[in-house]
Amino acid sequence: MSFASLGLRDSIVSALTELGYSQPTPIQQKAIPVVLEGKNLLAAAQTGTGKTASFVLPLLQRFADCAPIRPKRVRAIILTPTRELALQVHDNIVRYAKHLKLTSMAMYGGVDEAPQKQRLIEGVDILVATPGRLLDMYTQRAIHFDETSVLVLDEADRMLDMGFIDAINKIIERLPEQRQNLLFSATLSNQVRGLAKTVVFDPVEIEL
Ligand code: AMP
Repeated sequence: MSFASLGLRDSIVSALTELGYSQPTPIQQKAIPVVLEGKNLLAAAQTGTGKTASFVLPLLQRFADCAPIRPKRVRAIILTPTRELALQVHDNIVRYAKHLKLTSMAMYGGVDEAPQKQRLIEGVDILVATPGRLLDMYTQRAIHFDETSVLVLDEADRMLDMGFIDAINKIIERLPEQRQNLLFSATLSNQVRGLAKTVVFDPVEIEL
């Protein structure tokens, strides 16, 4: 199986080829078609399986031809438990979007808010954020959610372990109801399934 046969455009496939990715990993083979179709997804996948590309690549495909994003708006929000993961996902987006005119930003707590606010002013296609800082930015009206059509929870089990449930719930309450939801977690514990019930309606389920 090839990335092209999954329905990804040439400009994405060529970036992957340049990175030395010769074929999609099992999670990518299963998840990419589902996400491209706009369906909700609940996926159990460990780090190291290629899970990041399985949600990033379809988002790039979807947004590649969109008109420029408006100020303070974001098309997709990827929530991550830590600054390190946010930066890592953002780095992947930049590499995969090398031949596209799409923007990404990593946003996390523990650092000065001012540069992040400044960056948000021009709008961002794909925002990778930790929940607490994102909620802070929303409360301060530095970001608006009215053009956000995709929510991804990455490493949902770790976000729960770290006590982000309240922030996540508050963010979800403020997002447009019409949106695609993707939840990735190393394990699908009862706690994760509980969260999934409130976030991902009628999802396709993938377990590796
Ligand atoms: P992840 O599970 O998303 O953290 O990805 C683990 C590592 O696999 C990352 O360093 C990716 O760059 C790499 N990777 C992801 N997809 C592929 C692929 N299809 N072929 C080769 N490497 C990949």
